[in-house]
Amino acid sequence: MRFKDRVAIVTGGARGIGAATAQLFASEGARVVVSDLDEAPAREVAEPIGGLAIACDVSSRDAVESMVARTVQELGHLDILVTCAGIIRDNLLFKMTDEDWDAVIDTHLKGTFLCARAAQRHMVEQKSGKMVFLSSTSALGNRGQTNYAAAKAGLQGMARTLAIELGPYNINVNAVAPGFVETRMTRATAERMGVDYETFKMGAASQIPLRRVGQPSDIASVIGFLCSDEAGFVSGQTVYVRGGP
Ligand code: NAP
Repeated sequence: MRFKDRVAIVTGGARGIGAATAQLFASEGARVVVSDLDEAPAREVAEPIGGLAIACDVSSRDAVESMVARTVQELGHLDILVTCAGIIRDNLLFKMTDEDWDAVIDTHLKGTFLCARAAQRHMVEQKSGKMVFLSSTSALGNRGQTNYAAAKAGLQGMARTLAIELGPYNINVNAVAPGFVETRMTRATAERMGVDYETFKMGAASQIPLRRVGQPSDIASVIGFLCSDEAGFVSGQTVYVRGGP
């Protein structure tokens, strides 16, 4: 029960890595806000774990401010923020539109900035908190992902900077950078490339030293560790979780 009586917000909590993270927190005693674009899928995850579903587009300042305010109003405080909300709009640079760029940057980078800024007000006041931002191995460079790679590398810089700014208030800020994880996001990539998903996964697994792709729970367990008291002296780090170095 590492998260007994803690209150956690998970953005993008309705699916994939976010849903697995929300379930892990709840299974260890946290009260969880499952936040996502649409309330219905968020409720499907929140209800079985006794959580609260809040619809919120993370790229909207007003939506984020009211989601965080409602969390504190209804659950009393805020201890953990995990930002999983994400989209991909892959294309080679010469075909990438302004809209592809803006949508990805606004969701990942601005979305995390807005959530972190809204959350820190409460965490600074209570002098404790944990934040984990979802980066990606794409931060190291990935063909067709100029927008996504820039956003994911930016999140690592944001985590390091906020670790410095918020450390004096006993707030840990880290990033987790997964490799290939079996979720709707990687399924969508296979579809866009016209490749059968099982074949796509096998191809990815053959390049991974542990010879398998990741599952959402593989990522959630590392996020859980970073949000636990055991990781109390870990801050400003990016942990790659990709079945290899
Ligand atoms: P996923 O299954 O597609 O879940 C992402 C969730 O974010 C979806 O429920 C999506 O809602 C929601 N979302 C999208 N835009 C949003 C917005 N503006 N505001 C609020 N919610 C929004 O993705 P995932 O694979 O679990 O990925 C979670 C995080 O891990 C992402 O940041 C992703 O970039 C990162 N990551 C994933 C992988 C991987 O291999 N899967 C690897 C590295 C990093 P809709 O479904 O309604 O669009």
